[in-house]
Amino acid sequence: MRFCFAHDQGMEARNVLCYRSGGAKRFQWCRRERGPVWRRLGFVDRMAVLTSGGDAPGMNAAIRAVVRVGTALGVEVVGVSMGYAGLLTGQMRVLDARTVGGILQHGGTILGTARSPEFESEEGRRKALENLVTRGVEGLIVIGGDGSLRGAHELHKLGFPVVGVPATIDNDIPGTQIAIGVDTALNTAIEAIDRIKDTASSHHRAFIVEVMGRHCGYLALMAGMAAGAEMVLLPEVETRVEAVVDELTRAYARGKLHFIVIAAEGSALKAHYLRDYLSELEDGAFEARLTVLGHVLRGGSPTAFDRILATRLGAAAVEELRQGNSDRLVTYGGSKSNSVDIMKALGDRCGVDMPLYRLANMLAK
Ligand code: ADP
Repeated sequence: MRFCFAHDQGMEARNVLCYRSGGAKRFQWCRRERGPVWRRLGFVDRMAVLTSGGDAPGMNAAIRAVVRVGTALGVEVVGVSMGYAGLLTGQMRVLDARTVGGILQHGGTILGTARSPEFESEEGRRKALENLVTRGVEGLIVIGGDGSLRGAHELHKLGFPVVGVPATIDNDIPGTQIAIGVDTALNTAIEAIDRIKDTASSHHRAFIVEVMGRHCGYLALMAGMAAGAEMVLLPEVETRVEAVVDELTRAYARGKLHFIVIAAEGSALKAHYLRDYLSELEDGAFEARLTVLGHVLRGGSPTAFDRILATRLGAAAVEELRQGNSDRLVTYGGSKSNSVDIMKALGDRCGVDMPLYRLANMLAK
């Protein structure tokens, strides 16, 4: 089998498997070496799947869907271990329907995940591409967050067909309403905050709970609303420490027994600083405790929503590749899964839902 990149187009288009960067609209029809039929360019017989960046509950469900849907459609699916790092070292194995049995309910990813600085260089990406082509892989599905999807786009720019599946508990991919893992992380956060509230009420104490979210406060805002926190600190909204003290004073004056602040890790007012500041005020009258939920939010069995979302998006990704599409991100909006150009999906910064933020503040009174 030969690959023919965009700049080679025109030569032997009838006897080689060709693809172009630039999306489905520009695909041509051509004949495979073996097989008598003419097929649309980009039709794949062998695709690879990898998970990359931070893990998110539901990644396994997405891998399972890719493998089972791919297999059912006659496509061989190759699993790449340890994300882009595994592409560079050629860690690939064929996955069949049985190898993805019993993983649906587990958090993490059976393929493993990693961060690969080498892949960020063009030299690294060319090495990865060579490994894919050598193994006869004709398309790649990347399951991961913002960085992983940017990496997928770079691979597409070298002429290799890629489709992205959004998976990140931060929910910082504006092109999709929700990413795989967010719902599970939110439920885990709420369970933890409910427990913290019990002890906070008993001791009449302030608690600061830090959740993940470097650039995007989605998890903090939603957890704050769903768990009934008194305040939320988001990367997108500046909050002065004096404003927290004012709220805390007023809340205690209204007879509240506790004061719960949910802080996104990326908020300008840092959770550690706030804890120390409050504890040093008024001879300890505002003593505060800090709980960092951190990686706890990444683990655990995915919720039904995440399993279904991951299954639908995994299946949609296979279909996108089979149709000869590249540089697309499969997305979720309302009750539908769809797809959009990767860079368009990542392009805008995730903005906070201000009406919801105001509602959360109103409910906290
Ligand atoms: P996440 O996908 O969870 O956001 P990272 O931002 O750490 O995680 O990205 C995961 C990996 O994706 C990086 O280690 C790197 O190999 C690759 N990557 C990230 N950004 C780029 C980029 N701009 N170009 C190429 N590869 C990238």
